[in-house]
Amino acid sequence: MFHSISSFHRSNNQQLRMTYPTDETQSSTRANCDACSTASEVYIRQNSSKRSTADNDEKNDTCEMAHKRGRSTIDDFVTCPIEKFGCLKEIPYDDLEAHYSSKIHQECLLRAVIFCVQQLHSEPKTNTTLSNNEENYSEITDSVNLLAEGLSSLHDDNVQIHDNAIQLHNNISEQQYQIEQLKNSIEESSQFIHATQINTNVLQTEIETLKQKITDLSSQSSYDGTFIWKITNVSQKINDSISERQTSVYSPPFYSSPTGYKMCMRLYFNGDGQARRTHLSLFFVLMRGDYDAILTWPFSYKITFCLYDQTNNQRHIIDSFRPDIRSNSFQRSQSNMNIASGLPKFCPLTFIQQENTPYVRDDCMFIRCITNFETIPKKMIPYICALNMGLPKSIQQTMIQAEVERHNLVTSSALSNPEKSFMNEDSLNKSQ
Ligand SMILES: [Zn+2]
Repeated sequence: MFHSISSFHRSNNQQLRMTYPTDETQSSTRANCDACSTASEVYIRQNSSKRSTADNDEKNDTCEMAHKRGRSTIDDFVTCPIEKFGCLKEIPYDDLEAHYSSKIHQECLLRAVIFCVQQLHSEPKTNTTLSNNEENYSEITDSVNLLAEGLSSLHDDNVQIHDNAIQLHNNISEQQYQIEQLKNSIEESSQFIHATQINTNVLQTEIETLKQKITDLSSQSSYDGTFIWKITNVSQKINDSISERQTSVYSPPFYSSPTGYKMCMRLYFNGDGQARRTHLSLFFVLMRGDYDAILTWPFSYKITFCLYDQTNNQRHIIDSFRPDIRSNSFQRSQSNMNIASGLPKFCPLTFIQQENTPYVRDDCMFIRCITNFETIPKKMIPYICALNMGLPKSIQQTMIQAEVERHNLVTSSALSNPEKSFMNEDSLNKSQ
C-alpha cells in the first residue's frame, strides 16, 4: 500500500521532468515539459550564467505553476490513494499536498497502517491454504517416513560396519602379534645363522689345516734331504696364478733327516717379482722343525732343483743355488716358515706352456729338490736326476757312490789338465 503511494509520487515527478538545451551562453532558456502534449514553450528568466540545483527547482516550480494555469477542468480533481480507508475521493490537484498534511488524511493513514499491521500478525487461514497445508504435511510425513526407513537401514548398516571394524581390528591385533613373534624368531634365526657362520669358518679353517696335514702325511715325506714333488692339476694352477686367485703353491714338507731341517718348496706358476709373466719362479723354504734347537744355524747347504722331463729324452731342467747365510731366510725360523729364497727365473714359462711340453704330462709336473750335504760335484746332479727312481734307495745310493768314484778318477786324471779342472767349477751357483 505504501508502495503504491510512493509510486504515485514518482509518476507525478516523472510527469514534471523537463529537458534543457546545453547552450549556457543564452540569457534565457527554452524548455520542453514532458507532461505537456502540446510541448508548450516555457521561458525561464536566468539570474546568473551558472546553473544550480536551486535553479532546477525554481524551473520545476515555474513549470508546475504554468501547468496549473493552463490545465483543463477534467484533470483538476484526483482521488486520494487511501480512499479505501475512508479518505477523500475528489481532491483538487492543487490542494493535494495540503491534503496529505490534513487531519482526515492522517486519520485514514493511521487506519491503513493498523489494518496492515493486523493483517501481518494474523495469518489468514482459509480452507484452501489449510487443505494445501494438509497436502504438504502428508507429503512431508511421507518424506519423513521414507527418511526414517532410510535412517533405520543406515543404522543397521552402521552397526554391521561397526561389528566388521571391530572384527578387523581384532584381526589386525592378532596379525601384529604374529608379526612381532616372527620378527623375534627371525632375529633369533639371524643370530643363530651368524654364530653358525662363524663356527663354519672356524671349521673350514680346521678342515684346511687337516687336509694339509693329511697331504703332508700321505705324501711319503722324505727324510734324506731330497724330495720329489708331484704337482697335479697344473693347468688349473697356472690359471689361478695368472688370474692372481692363487699366485703360488707350496710343496709338502720334507726333512734332511728324521731329526733334521724341515723344508719345502714354493712355486710361482706365473713368475714372481721381476720374473712375473716370464718365468717359472721356484723357491726353497726353511720351516720351523721339532729339532731346530739342536741343529746348526744358519742353514748353509747348497740347493738344487730339477724339473723332470717326463719323456725318454730326459732333458731335465736343473739349477742350483747356495744360500746367502746372512739372509733371514736361512736363520732358525721364528714363525711357521721363513721367507722363500731361490730361483725367480728357474725356467721360462714357454717351457711349460708350450704344446706337448715334456715337463707337463697328464696335467702333472715333477720337481725334485736336492740338498747337497756331501758337496756332490755339480756334474753328478744330472746323473742323480737321471737315476731310475723306481730302484730301491740302497741301490740308488750304491750307483751314485760308484758314479762319484768314477767321477773322482776322471777329476784326478784331469788335474794335469787345468782346462778340464776349470770345467768342474760350480758355474751354476745362484743365490738370492
Ligand atoms: Zn487522503
